[in-house]
Parts: sequence; structure tokens; C-alpha cells
Amino acid sequence: MRLTDHVELVASGAAGFDLTDPLDCHVYLVRGERGWALVDAGAGASAATIAAAVPDGPGERHLLLTHGHADHAGGAAALAELLPGLDVRAAEPARAWIAAGAESMLSVDRGRAAGVYPAGYAFPPCPSVRPVADGERIDLGGVVLHAIATPGHADGHVCYLLDAPEGRALFSGDCVFAGGRISLQNLHDSRVPEYARSVARLAGLEIDALLPGHHEISLARARRHLTAARDVFARGLLPESTT
Ligand SMILES: [Zn+2]
Repeated sequence: MRLTDHVELVASGAAGFDLTDPLDCHVYLVRGERGWALVDAGAGASAATIAAAVPDGPGERHLLLTHGHADHAGGAAALAELLPGLDVRAAEPARAWIAAGAESMLSVDRGRAAGVYPAGYAFPPCPSVRPVADGERIDLGGVVLHAIATPGHADGHVCYLLDAPEGRALFSGDCVFAGGRISLQNLHDSRVPEYARSVARLAGLEIDALLPGHHEISLARARRHLTAARDVFARGLLPESTT
């Protein structure tokens, strides 16, 4: 599904548009002149579909993970196998948990117990994942992505800001959703003060599009979603939370 001149939606599950496996988050493909990047990987069952959607041929190939939860990072290992040379990135400490398949740190055990993931779901370790640092630039040629550390939903959560000729888009993962909703969960690394700081930082950005990990996508005037969440936090309250 083409969203902008440079961005397509290549997977999306039940908390989205039902394009692929129900467990999948939104998976985006960003195309540049000298390479491409996937933002997030889905849970794993759709890896072949996602791999078939990326351009053939030479050029840089990146998989930029927003965080380690299985609906976003569970497909990383399968994509790394299907797409030789794939540069898989995530921020610490999530990177180490993804590399090791540390299910308790990634809250996969809690998700299985709650029925979010099927009883037989296992998180495949992705040993090739490398760290991405706050402020790092990934230049795809004509379009540039910037990593922004945004802990709160989970440790190691990163958003990616895209500068493209048609405008600026924020891949917000599970940090901020349309309408200023957030995702605060009863998990070991969901942290309110960090969340508030991350959202305040994002709300300082001028963006056109908000491309979150689930639910609606906003293609214009999208900063309003960020400022709405920031303003609720600033009053000492919690924005509405979603999954
Ligand atoms: Zn998450």
C-alpha cells in the first residue's frame, strides 16, 4: 500500500489493516536512491511476504526495529535469513534481548500467558542485530532517516524520523498513535517518566505524517497527535492507552 512517494505499508495485522498475519505490527518500506529500509519486522509468519515486497538488486538494505516486542521484532531473524546482507538494527538494551531471544525481557512470556501470542509462539533470536544510537543518520540517498531514542513504552524504544522531499514523517512504533494515544503496559520496562520525556521530545518536531506501529495512519498535519499526548502528560495525567 503506497503511502507517500517514498513509503509503502508492506505488512499490517489485526491492530491495523489486516494485510498480513494478525500478530503483525505495521511494517513500512522506505525506498531511497541507493537503498531501502524496512521499519519493523512483524511477528514472523509474514516474513516471506515482506521479503517479496522489497526491491531486488544491489544497494543498502536495512531493517530498523523500533523495539523488541514480538509483534515488531519477532520476524527479524527470518528476514535476515531471507534477505542476505540485511543490516538489522535496534537500540540497547532491546538489541541484546533480540539477539539472544530473551523472552522474559521482551515480555513474550507475559504475552503468551495473556493470550496475545499463541501458546506455541517462540521468539526467534536474531544474533546479527547491531546497535543503533540516538541521533544516528541512515542516508538512503534522497531520503534520510534519523534515530530518536524514545523509552517509555519499552526500554530501547526508538522512533525514526524520515526527511523526504515530500515532507517529514515519524515512524513512531508503539510510542505515539493517532489521536495522541500512547501504549503504557503493565510490563517490567514500561516507564511513565521516561514516556513523558520521550513524548515531549517528539512534540518539538515539525512533522507532516505520523506512521505508527498500529492503528490509523496520519498523512498530513500530524504534529497535532504528538502535541495532544504531550499536553496530557504536562497536566500530570496519562494519555489514553491502546495496545
Ligand atoms: Zn510494543
